[in-house]
Amino acid sequence: MAPVAMRLAAQSLSDAQPVPFWLEDPGKPGALPALTGTEKCDLLVVGGGYSGLWTALLAKEREPSRDVVLIEGREVGWAASGRNGGFCAASLTHGFGNGLARWPGELPRLEELGERNLDGIEEAVARYSLDCDFERTGEIDVATEPYQVEELHEMYEEIDRLGLADGLELLDRDAVRAEVDSPTFLAGLWDRRGVAMLNPAKLAWGLKRACLDLGVRIFENTPGLELVSVGAGMGVRTPYGRVLARRVALGTNVFPSLVKRVRHYTVPVYDYALMTEPLSPEQLASVGWKNRQGLGDSANQFHYFRITADNRILWGGYDAIYPFGGKLDAERDQRPETYLKLAEHFFRCFPQLEGLRFSHAWGGAIDTCSRFSAFFGTAYKGKVAYAAGFTGLGVGATRFGGDVMLDLLAGERTERTELDMVRSKPLPFPPEPIAWAGIGITKWAMARADENGGRRNLWLKTMDRMGLGFDS
Ligand SMILES: Cc1cc2nc3c(=O)[nH]c(=O)nc-3n(C[C@H](O)[C@H](O)[C@H](O)COP(=O)(O)OP(=O)(O)OC[C@H]3O[C@@H](n4cnc5c(N)ncnc54)[C@H](O)[C@@H]3O)c2cc1C
Repeated sequence: MAPVAMRLAAQSLSDAQPVPFWLEDPGKPGALPALTGTEKCDLLVVGGGYSGLWTALLAKEREPSRDVVLIEGREVGWAASGRNGGFCAASLTHGFGNGLARWPGELPRLEELGERNLDGIEEAVARYSLDCDFERTGEIDVATEPYQVEELHEMYEEIDRLGLADGLELLDRDAVRAEVDSPTFLAGLWDRRGVAMLNPAKLAWGLKRACLDLGVRIFENTPGLELVSVGAGMGVRTPYGRVLARRVALGTNVFPSLVKRVRHYTVPVYDYALMTEPLSPEQLASVGWKNRQGLGDSANQFHYFRITADNRILWGGYDAIYPFGGKLDAERDQRPETYLKLAEHFFRCFPQLEGLRFSHAWGGAIDTCSRFSAFFGTAYKGKVAYAAGFTGLGVGATRFGGDVMLDLLAGERTERTELDMVRSKPLPFPPEPIAWAGIGITKWAMARADENGGRRNLWLKTMDRMGLGFDS
């Protein structure tokens, strides 16, 4: 990084609070009491992020008389669900390219189910008055290198060939810059309906309120410590009590699963984001952004960025950090060297905003699996279901995951459970040090590819062939 750019980046970060912007909200609800003694219920949901909250809500919608308990190890929404970028995508497959590579025959069906899932979220936002700044503005993938312009065109043609291009629009350089102005943008592909922007923590807190209103009993600061079979049902031990349940749904994401064999399928990869102070009307006018879409660039190591309800810019991504041994560690939620890199990239993208400062900087662990889209399953003879591995695109897909878990627990064959995507599993990660070395080499190769006009080297091509390719 050039010294001047480095100095500007450092200055812009000097007041940044090292906490997730979204979780600093004065509207944050207080924690509910922890569970003590024995609780009995029809369905126990473990985890108070979107996966758990949607599962509990959908369970009550399907059968209002069902007795549902949700336990959360800390506070609802404190983890990924309260600190993400707030891009709520219809895609269930981590984007079209990944879906096409893995489930080509099934993709139109997956896209349709994904769109219905996003519609379902929009309906729930209205029905339960979830105050989460939901705006279905879509997302523009922008090309910042000539090879990416070609890739965007090829992607559009592929989507069109499958008859799925409705709502998609290719933008040339002038058109994309008329939407959001950056000298680095060369073209864009705008998906007008397939993504909504929202305030992630407010969505989690709104879902918590909606669950309580429907009669879900929620206990916070209540980690499930152990899962055991008890007669025809299951028991979960907690620090001060236990829950006896007919069925259990695990929405524990990147945290060690209570079903041990599931742990090998995911690794935590830390992702980081910056939030600016609110833009002045003049600063906003210099960027445009009247249609308030989310944006992502198309590099192998990519940035995502968006505007908030109070006209701040969230700028995240690029640096994905895998900790040796896959250990979760709160200290990794902060990474000043990544913040500097992100800030420098921000001003390269928006030089007209020089002088703007960042108010918040934070990170969080993403539950990454080798196929970059969620996997599902059951344990204990169908009494326990799990969904995990959303790999950085779980804001929307976790609701679909909740539906799948409920289908599996009911033992029902549905349009969801018949999907190859639902029935198959990703390749598990190898033990250390192989996982660490493999992920490290992949990251290095992606950075090289970004520098070399997108050309993927032998390592990335081999990973692609094995279905392990990192695609942006
Ligand atoms: C920085 C960042 C940016 C992201 N940006 C986006 C984005 O823009 N769009 C997008 O779609 N996705 C994004 N993601 C990913 C998205 O946030 C996640 O996929 C989604 O929130 C997963 O929801 P979840 O409920 O499965 O997991 P979580 O939100 O992690 O919730 C799991 C909960 O389970 C609890 N828990 C775990 N174990 C136990 C136990 N034994 N007992 C009790 N409770 C337990 C945890 O305390 C936690 O609260 C991002 C993630 C990060 C970190």
